[in-house]
Amino acid sequence: MRNSLLALSLFALAAFGQANGKLQIHYIDVGQADSAIVISPHGETVLFDAGEDMKTKDCTKLVEYLTALKVARIDHLYVSHYHFDHIGCVADVLGHFPLRGKSYDRGESYAGATFKAYVAAVGEHRATAQVGDKVVLDADFDVPVTIETLALNGAGVDTKNENDLSVVAKLTFEHFTAEFGGDLSGEKAGDYEDIETKVADQVGPINVYKVHHHCSTHSTNEYWLQKTTPQVGVISTGDTNPYSHPATACLERLHQAGVKTYWTETGKGAAPISTWDVVGGSILVEMTPGADHYTVKPVSGEAHDYPLKAVTPQPTQQSYVWSVRSKIYHYADCAVAKSISEGNRRTGTTPPEGKTLHQGCPPPK
Ligand SMILES: [Zn+2]
Repeated sequence: MRNSLLALSLFALAAFGQANGKLQIHYIDVGQADSAIVISPHGETVLFDAGEDMKTKDCTKLVEYLTALKVARIDHLYVSHYHFDHIGCVADVLGHFPLRGKSYDRGESYAGATFKAYVAAVGEHRATAQVGDKVVLDADFDVPVTIETLALNGAGVDTKNENDLSVVAKLTFEHFTAEFGGDLSGEKAGDYEDIETKVADQVGPINVYKVHHHCSTHSTNEYWLQKTTPQVGVISTGDTNPYSHPATACLERLHQAGVKTYWTETGKGAAPISTWDVVGGSILVEMTPGADHYTVKPVSGEAHDYPLKAVTPQPTQQSYVWSVRSKIYHYADCAVAKSISEGNRRTGTTPPEGKTLHQGCPPPK
């Protein structure tokens, strides 16, 4: 029964092909582990983690999935952190699909044979991710896919918890965005630290959220959800996990924030609620260039469309306004500043020299 189901789903997958002119993100069902592959419209590939399930210790599902996609090679690899459920299948995968570019990880070292096997498998492709680093896919085409590293190693928070050291990366394709943040935590509990709050503003609005830490109770805090406003959360979890993932508290926060979730497996925590949660095996997110929506399609389930919300640009710098005839300057949104005539009006991203701030200005938003 299982074999025929597997054969059937592999057959269905073969029809996707590697490059199909759309952005594809496959969140692959790898049991209690993590792995997702991004395929650009012109066929460049980025693998985010290649994890091994604790119980099955099996990488064949992942290798078979990539084979069925007709993936020829991995162009870039991102490793969130060094737990086996994120790197345990790297050697196996790269044995089948050679790595062309770099393997971006959090640097440093980690104890154990799994980490050693990872380091040996990537060899000189290994590179420490740097905040602000960008990998651009389809760089020679009109609509590139950009992946930017936003944080790693705790984002300045002092922690030794391996989960909290996860690399945080954001993918952008036209108005579509998705976040990958490994097993990041969102609360201080035991040796877990709240990293989500630290990075939420920087991540900003996203469409698809790879739910941190398999929806552990420590992940996905309210501030994170408020700032990132995801429409869709993908939960990578395994039926045999001993951690009660996905956790009820994590799921409730997602539901409260209006996030629809897709699970690779049922897991061993909270039960899915039919109006909110879909358990569907591997989950494919697809977007056609120029489209005003994207699609989420579980391997065993129907496709759902999601509108691309208008993304409010994050204010990065407060700008200033002043009149050449006055000794005071204003924040750009100050009502008084609006009455300055066109001819006298000057603006800048830093305060003008020799002038003082108008005390009646509202504080910057
Ligand atoms: Zn994990």
